[in-house]
Amino acid sequence: MQFQATVLAAILSSAAAFSPAISNNAASTTSLSATRQPIMAGNWKMNPSTEADAVALGEGLTSLLGEETCPIDDENPLCTEVVIFPPHPFISKVRESVEDAGITIGAQSMYFEDSGAYTGSVCASMVLSIGCEYVLCGHSERRTLFDDDDAAINRKVKKVLSSGMKPILCIGETKAEYDLNIKNEVCAMQLSKDLQGVTKEEMADVVIAYEPVWAIGTGLVCGSDAANETHGFLRTVLARMYDEEVAQATRIQYGGSVTPDSVDELMSKPEIDGCLVGGASLDAEKFGRIINYKHTK
Ligand code: PEP
Repeated sequence: MQFQATVLAAILSSAAAFSPAISNNAASTTSLSATRQPIMAGNWKMNPSTEADAVALGEGLTSLLGEETCPIDDENPLCTEVVIFPPHPFISKVRESVEDAGITIGAQSMYFEDSGAYTGSVCASMVLSIGCEYVLCGHSERRTLFDDDDAAINRKVKKVLSSGMKPILCIGETKAEYDLNIKNEVCAMQLSKDLQGVTKEEMADVVIAYEPVWAIGTGLVCGSDAANETHGFLRTVLARMYDEEVAQATRIQYGGSVTPDSVDELMSKPEIDGCLVGGASLDAEKFGRIINYKHTK
């Protein structure tokens, strides 16, 4: 608790100190940028309606992987990793249909307890046992519609890691917070709370998704320069919480209404390592174009 309070105080003072500097110098951390493997993820949310449609969507994707996406036994560390998050009932069948193509499967959520009287929930060992490698944690729809708070998200992140899977931790400000100009402070606070107790070593398996809530499912994409700037700021927060090595090695995705039209520009930015895609991931052609974005960096 003491640790968290101290780190948070430092982060918030740095947030205030960095905001103007970062907005005038978007590429402030890029000279040190490490080589990070791109990661494109598709969050299917509560879609499609049937198992047959889910398998068809997965199968449709397998033929759209390109030369720069990862085949299953590829040793190129810079190939684009592709992860999809089907609804729980479809995970096994979809995994069977995409695994030979090298597409990785994740769970959209899970509960942090190991077993017991939690009707309707699934636990880490369940999703691990059906082949999930990733779990989404802190998605804004979970935060707002299902009351996942930062304490619960933190327990979930730690359970995912201790179970041998990788969390994609979603953070981001609401429209009201954006308008109040406290975006950086909100994101710093979420990182600090949601990663409390996660070790430097464990951070190698953590992916962050910066998703401005106002851009999710709205068609409003955060500008690529603004997203890049925020990602750079998040690295300064990670450097304070851990060190510069973690800050530069951690993969940070952008999420919020990404489409084939916006992906190339977003992915051209040095601090953006991938995208978390909702709506457009339900259309194999669109998601196929997104995972095969133009490589310009
Ligand atoms: C999401 O669900 O994380 C998301 C970014 O959705 P969309 O791409 O539809 O905005």
